[in-house]
Amino acid sequence: MSTEVVATSAISDAQPQSPSAPTQKSVEKVNLLGLSRPQMEKFFEEIGEKKFRAGQVMKWIHQFFVTDFAEMTNISGKLREKLEKICVIEAPEVVHKNYSKDGTRKWVFRVGDGEGSLVETVLIPADDKTGARKTLCISSQVGCALDCSFCSTGKQGFQRDLNQAEIIGQLWMANYSYMEDIPVLERERSVTNVVMMGMGEPLLNYDAVLNSMRIMLDDFAYGMSKRRVTLSTSGVVPKIDQMVKDIDVALAISLHAPNDELRNELVPINKKYPLEQLIAACQRYIAKDGNESSRKHVTIEYVMLDGVNDSLTHAQEMIKLLKNLPSKINLIPFNPFPHAPYGRSSRNKIISFQKALSDAGFVCTIRQTRGDDIDAACGQLVGQVADRTRRAEQWKKKVAAQNEIIRSQG
Ligand code: SF4
Repeated sequence: MSTEVVATSAISDAQPQSPSAPTQKSVEKVNLLGLSRPQMEKFFEEIGEKKFRAGQVMKWIHQFFVTDFAEMTNISGKLREKLEKICVIEAPEVVHKNYSKDGTRKWVFRVGDGEGSLVETVLIPADDKTGARKTLCISSQVGCALDCSFCSTGKQGFQRDLNQAEIIGQLWMANYSYMEDIPVLERERSVTNVVMMGMGEPLLNYDAVLNSMRIMLDDFAYGMSKRRVTLSTSGVVPKIDQMVKDIDVALAISLHAPNDELRNELVPINKKYPLEQLIAACQRYIAKDGNESSRKHVTIEYVMLDGVNDSLTHAQEMIKLLKNLPSKINLIPFNPFPHAPYGRSSRNKIISFQKALSDAGFVCTIRQTRGDDIDAACGQLVGQVADRTRRAEQWKKKVAAQNEIIRSQG
């Protein structure tokens, strides 16, 4: 069967990605890395093989981190040769990696040829003695169109959606970074938790993100608990409702403001889906299946911006807003990036804010700032590696113009 026929059906979302200068031959091959189980089964049927091969190959890829068909010892030599001819297993190319002293790891991947075709992934270990929990923050788009005013990624503009191989490739590579020197059959997954909270709005790349999360949950792949896979959205309400029907994972909301006026400014998608609609969608998400542990509550992410959203009045507004939504609140000290228009709230202010919410009965934590030595804030490292997009240029010009005004006034 020709690769063209294969590439048009079950695997249309999983475009081939090459880790290095791709040859014409590899570009035509099907990248198996990004196929969910149904897609992989369909693929094997289309090439005239039994569909149980899908599970076997997925285990080699996602549990033993094998990219060479020759190492798949429970598959006949004939089939391995066939797969070699028409498939590849390729994660996106790592163009930069940085491992912090505190255990944080960060990668920048190239996902295309053009300038700015870079995404980043950050792994944050638990801040405890065991270090057993390793949370990976995965990107879903190259850049982002939503332009939240405090976000480094938003300043880079939107380039394109990532495909499934590029999304799951981030998880594959993070695991592989701990496995490189370990014999194949002794390899075990290291990443314990995933948050879809990197560059991009995941619900605006719905199908690829959905299938990637299915691979994360699949026992033939990463076998992660649904409580340990979290999708974080800025509030694309119709897609939250769609998720209720499609998958059971934890939900986080990038809230960042307790009223519409401020949220319109910080998270502009709020103008389309204001807080009342967003909170109602969260309630529906929980209500659908209240017994499921992944859906007992929603996590509320709240970045603490000095003098903008961090007063006790804001805390009281939060309490009112969330009073009928089972939620856990995560306060995030802002990680300033070059030309950022905001500063980080003081430690005292963050603690006072937390106390107000805790006193009102909410579970409210303060996120540890990790990986400061490697720019662990969303979009920050990519911003340094390739800060070349038009939006970034416009942003810099705007800042330069403002500085000029300040200088001329002073
Ligand atoms: S915070 Fe998220 S949704 Fe908003 S611009 Fe940044 S990446 Fe996009």
